[in-house]
Amino acid sequence: MNVQAPLNSALAVRDQFPAIPPGWHYLDSAATAQKPQAVIDAISRAYGHDYATVHRGVYERSAAMTQSFEAARVAASALIGGREEEELIFTRGATEAINLVAQTYRNGNRKRVLLSQLEHHSNIVPWQLAGCEIDVVPLTEDGRIDLDAAGKMASEEHAIVALAHVSNVLGSILDARRAADIAHKVGAKLLLDGCQAAPRFPVDVASIGADFYAFSAHKVYGPTGIGALWARKEILDAMPPWQGGGAMIDRVTFEKTTYLPAPSRFEAGTPHIVGAVGFHAAIDWVNGIGTDALHAHESALVTEARAALRSVPGVTLFGPEDSAGIVSFALDGVHPHDIGTILDDEGVAVRAGHHCAQPLMDYLGVPATARASFAAHSDASDIEALVQGLYKVKRIFG
Ligand code: PMP
Repeated sequence: MNVQAPLNSALAVRDQFPAIPPGWHYLDSAATAQKPQAVIDAISRAYGHDYATVHRGVYERSAAMTQSFEAARVAASALIGGREEEELIFTRGATEAINLVAQTYRNGNRKRVLLSQLEHHSNIVPWQLAGCEIDVVPLTEDGRIDLDAAGKMASEEHAIVALAHVSNVLGSILDARRAADIAHKVGAKLLLDGCQAAPRFPVDVASIGADFYAFSAHKVYGPTGIGALWARKEILDAMPPWQGGGAMIDRVTFEKTTYLPAPSRFEAGTPHIVGAVGFHAAIDWVNGIGTDALHAHESALVTEARAALRSVPGVTLFGPEDSAGIVSFALDGVHPHDIGTILDDEGVAVRAGHHCAQPLMDYLGVPATARASFAAHSDASDIEALVQGLYKVKRIFG
């Protein structure tokens, strides 16, 4: 995993991103990734020339669109090491994927889930809505999920251990294989929130031993409104459907309805057809660069950014040194929102806020952080602009 790229890493792809004009420094990819032209073109083609519904049409156009839609499923599954396409369900995003699991598990025998202190609200609130009791794994001093503690806390009362593969605030990378062992030892399932991992490094659900993997297309350079839940087939086969409607049924009468097997059983209604095509184009684009190369590139930028930020007096850095593409920081005496606003004037787009991780903010003892996150198009000029912008913030705030 620790592939080293040289400092000043650049993949020279910025000109493929029409939404990033020269002189603008987009450091908010952890919120959503900008789209390469190849993805925009694929979406335009799908609506413009190729459009039709999927699965139901007997005409040729619909059959072709169905093929494209199902090819996207195979590609999304393969991106995270899934072996069979039946294991991947299209959802609206990671949030819906986690809600799906929480809702289908609400009537199980085990009522507890084991989460961590750094989870995104998407991996907290669905469990609360499902009526689960939540136990919270603490963090290590450098901001990783403390798996020693998790090992002691996991019990046979836990149905699910649900953890971020990469923290969207701290960038810390989970030892997912070890987390799977901890879950399986007590007969629980491991759900990984892969929102920040899938775009940043190679993921292999099989070698991890994960049971569920949730991620969103828009963080992987694809469109919004679509994402995925991967799960092992035998687990999906044992899960009840969670939403009813067209496309998920085998036979409907007013007395009784029978359902299709997974994945269709979990995909009620007309799906995000064009979203799937765009998702596929994004995965092809990522694979063209290679997730290993992306990881090396972003790791080098993180190292460079942490060193540069550390040189600015008054900056506090959060998270571990080897974080994946994400650096959160604070500046003494300045609210992160003011940092974000002044940086915006300087053409630097960072995120400032609680990052949908309020329990983590409470734990860190801050109301918010400023966060810079990297992507394929990032390079040293973004870091330089960020640091120059912070000096301007310091001048304004005296
Ligand atoms: N988990 C993590 C770690 C995230 O970063 C995000 C997005 N910020 C989500 C879950 C939710 O993803 P989405 O809004 O695409 O459903």
